Amino acid sequence: MSISMSSSSAATTPLTHLNPTATSQISAFPTSLSLPTTSPTRPLSITCSSSTLQTQTSTTTDRVFNFAAGPATLPENVLLRAQSELYNWRGSGMSVMEMSHRGKEFLSIIQKAESDLRSLLYIPPDYTILFLQGGATTQFAAAPLNLCSSPTDAVDYIVTGSWGDKAFKEAAKYCNPKSIWSGKSDKYTKIPNFDSLNQTPGAKFLHICANETIHGVEFKSYPTPAGQKEVLVADMSSNFCSKPVDVTKFGMIYAGAQKNVGPSGVTIVIIRSDLIGYAQAITPVMLDYKIHADNNSLYNTPPCYGIYMCGLVFEDLVEQGGLAEVEKKNVRKGSLLYDAIDGSKGFFRCPVEKSVRSLMNVPFTLAKPELEAEFVKEAAKEKMVQLKGHRSVGGMRASIYNAMPLAGVEKLVAFMKDFQARHDHA
Ligand code: PMP
Repeated sequence: MSISMSSSSAATTPLTHLNPTATSQISAFPTSLSLPTTSPTRPLSITCSSSTLQTQTSTTTDRVFNFAAGPATLPENVLLRAQSELYNWRGSGMSVMEMSHRGKEFLSIIQKAESDLRSLLYIPPDYTILFLQGGATTQFAAAPLNLCSSPTDAVDYIVTGSWGDKAFKEAAKYCNPKSIWSGKSDKYTKIPNFDSLNQTPGAKFLHICANETIHGVEFKSYPTPAGQKEVLVADMSSNFCSKPVDVTKFGMIYAGAQKNVGPSGVTIVIIRSDLIGYAQAITPVMLDYKIHADNNSLYNTPPCYGIYMCGLVFEDLVEQGGLAEVEKKNVRKGSLLYDAIDGSKGFFRCPVEKSVRSLMNVPFTLAKPELEAEFVKEAAKEKMVQLKGHRSVGGMRASIYNAMPLAGVEKLVAFMKDFQARHDHA
């Protein structure tokens, strides 16, 4: 029996409009079928009465400058590309959200994402890249579970902010961690001098948080771990792919995607392959790097759509000329904002020591804290949102990840100057 369907041609037309001002008409799949009562030997004519969804594609001018720490702003061209491919990915007839993770289409997506990331960070072949779930928080446990063979193994942590502290505390369940330096007494505004570190002989790894998202403290160079295998482990969640990094200095790098490279739900682990395969016996399969490495991150259903989005971001970073170019843009944006803060004669203040200020998360306070709520409110009216500092530290924080355009920082700086002019009557 052949069934001929008459439905709107729009339903099969790929949405290829990259023009952000275009209005698209999507005819939804049939919501009701009227089956004629004719002889079954004749071809059935099925009429699809489809409901027509009018979707208004938002224009770029509708968008705000989003200074959120994460989930965070994504590159506009990546969002528009994803939009154009959402309904029918490159002629496959389905969305990436609908694809089998074992099908050739998705395999091509994850492989391309991996190879672009490898080329961006010059990741050598003896390092394994994993696309996992559970956020960076899961890696706080997974790192000691995989890198320590016994819960009594010694591990060192340098604690430069809340995230490093959380990692340290979680590790205590699976190994014997020691905080060999903490910036807590200085309200997490510093990075230690590496020569003065008292590392534990035989420690299985040395853990750092490369960029503290809440406190705005960023390592500009890296300590050498004392352990025999020299395993430096870094949480790079909030500065991943913001600048070139010599991956060979690290045993393992991990990052939640939702700041610089994609949506939440994807966690990237880059690990020296010789460190894989020694997980503690109690390690759940989902946290065992060997299981994921042996299965090319496809042991179970991975966060497919998120990986696709990360892939689009990686492609965009490659097209921008790689991470050296990206870093130049980030330095320019960071300098503009820090100069505005430092040049405000104390009206705005950044507590972080100048040499270790983050290029991604810029915390600042107002000399008159009573004005902070007004600052945030007025900025939002000007379409600059999410400028309130983390609840644990207060003040303001502007996260200016790769995808924050220079225009966003320029607008913020102009607003800060105007705000000061209107309120600085001291
Ligand atoms: N590490 C850092 C540096 C972070 O900024 C965050 C999230 N803000 C985390 C870890 C926790 O990440 P997730 O929410 O993905 O578990």
